[in-house]
Amino acid sequence: MGKKIALITGANKGLGFAIARQLGECDYSIWLGCRDDVKGEAAASTLRQSGIDAQAVQLDVTSPMSIAGAVATIGTITDRIDVLVNNAGIHFGPPPPTFEEPIDQVKAIFETNVFGVLSVTQAFLPLLRKSDAGRIVMMSSGLGSLTETLDMRSENWSVGFAGYCASKAALNMLTVKLAKELDREGIKVNAADPGLTSTDLTGNGPGHSPEDGARSPVALATTHDFGPTAGFYACSASGDLVLHRW
Ligand code: NAP
Repeated sequence: MGKKIALITGANKGLGFAIARQLGECDYSIWLGCRDDVKGEAAASTLRQSGIDAQAVQLDVTSPMSIAGAVATIGTITDRIDVLVNNAGIHFGPPPPTFEEPIDQVKAIFETNVFGVLSVTQAFLPLLRKSDAGRIVMMSSGLGSLTETLDMRSENWSVGFAGYCASKAALNMLTVKLAKELDREGIKVNAADPGLTSTDLTGNGPGHSPEDGARSPVALATTHDFGPTAGFYACSASGDLVLHRW
């Protein structure tokens, strides 16, 4: 069947770029889905300089027209994709308490982190179905865990960001629903928690590197036929996948 083909959304920087690089180093052919053409082409060029087979495609996950364009572009060059990593995600700076969080901001977060993910997944399913081992990875967050949010011993206990956390909890439910529906087709769907990672999203503050954060989504993207589906995983310090509490 030739090289495996992966599409990563929000791949021009941060975790998405690190995932693209690591999958490229595993000899996947990489499509970087980027809403800004110039940034996408720069990222693809950087990967190509490292010998990775990479190209950019314009993809704004909140735009039906852009999603349709990306499907058409990729579909004219290849007959399938094997991996979809729904990585693009946003939040706004520290919001006020939930009872005052601006609804417009919460809607914008859901537009990207939830509806964007579902729209991209639905649109690319025909190409994923052509793979003999389709894999979908959702970039979730430990902050989407209801169990941890209710655990006083968890770092989540005192975290705000209700709109963002709710979006990742919703994404977790979509992960499970899709995994159950697509199981019989051999398509595995899992959610990944990258752990606190120093990127633009976190103001480049504390956290591990994007390369370390990329390990759980890459492990799920490359999981074998007996690998998990409908799971939520992080990576241990030794690099092994560990189950995350929902
Ligand atoms: P980042 O550095 O801010 O990168 C986010 C990426 O998403 C950028 O490429 C951005 O593109 C893209 N993006 C945003 N809106 C988009 C849209 N509508 N269409 C297409 N692309 C869009 O953030 P990150 O830390 O790498 O986060 C990546 C994912 O990991 C997110 O889903 C985030 O929620 C999740 N996550 C991160 C952490 C962490 O600690 N960093 C922890 C848990 C989960 P532009 O460059 O054009 O803005």
